[in-house]
Amino acid sequence: TKNILEVKDLRVSYHTYAGEVQSVRGVSFELETGKALAIVGESGCGKSVTAKSIMGLIKGPAGEIKEGSTILYNGDNILNYSKKQWQAYKGGECAIIFQDALASLNPTMRVGKQIMENLMAHKNMDKKSAQKEAVEMLRMVGIPEPEKRVKQYPHEFSGGMRQRVMIAIAFACDPKLLICDEPTTALDVTIQGQILDIIKDLQKKHNTSVIIITHDLGVVANLAQDIAVMYSGVIVEKGKCADIFYRPRHPYTWALIESVPRLDLENKQELASIPGTPPDLLNPPKGCPFSTRCRYCMEICKEEMPERTDFGDGHMASCWLHHEMAPKVEMPERKGG
Ligand code: SF4
Ligand code: MG
Repeated sequence: TKNILEVKDLRVSYHTYAGEVQSVRGVSFELETGKALAIVGESGCGKSVTAKSIMGLIKGPAGEIKEGSTILYNGDNILNYSKKQWQAYKGGECAIIFQDALASLNPTMRVGKQIMENLMAHKNMDKKSAQKEAVEMLRMVGIPEPEKRVKQYPHEFSGGMRQRVMIAIAFACDPKLLICDEPTTALDVTIQGQILDIIKDLQKKHNTSVIIITHDLGVVANLAQDIAVMYSGVIVEKGKCADIFYRPRHPYTWALIESVPRLDLENKQELASIPGTPPDLLNPPKGCPFSTRCRYCMEICKEEMPERTDFGDGHMASCWLHHEMAPKVEMPERKGG
């Protein structure tokens, strides 16, 4: 199929002592094979929970994927997978890179061995060729002196180098689908750029389909073809990268774009933050989730969830400003894209 992944009306809740937290409240999107999709939003918006759902990492009894949710991987609903299908899927079809490489790596095993194990398991290599290939993979992710480095342990690597190791391990499985959850958040800006370039290169070379989860819209501009903006457990806007950056149609996206740190400024304090906090997902608002922070908020926004407006080419936003009865507001337009 054209789409490696189709998520339809995904709903995920966490059961806590305080009650049911509705972390993901009806999320739908598609990922075209070989393309990269970014899911962008503040912490707590449900982006990581969405990623975990796709990776089969939502664990009961606390976590629950609600009845009626669908996650199609190459046309099959993974939520109906047998144990055997899960093993094949998690063991090689789908790989994930987390923000914290140190926590994901095995601290007691040389990094070369960790790469080799995946190569032997997923690419049917014998020990000798896996050994050679592990060195090549470290070279490929830009680690200097890879012959020496394969024999070292994770703690002997810097944060940026460890994230490169994580990428090598992930690609050693030859995944069809790669999920990167805040892969560069812990790193400084220069290293961030290098890591993103490596992911982009490998993605192209291997035709891997990628989902990148981030709170930083600036991170995804060069990597993703499509962007979904999440807020409070729902996608408020999605579309092609250029549409999101140059013709955004949701006030939350406008605020996010204003808060992208300017790389040309040394001082990151220029970063504008959005006043207020997202709503409590124990008691989600009945209206627009952004209404408590939106400077365009109208009466109806607090009462009813906005309809979705389709702007063509997959560009959609859920905001009452696009209703024919709404007052005219000047939408930001920038040249380019
Ligand atoms: Fe703002 Fe209303 Fe649009 Fe929500 S629906 S983003 S509150 S204008
Ligand atoms: Mg997260």
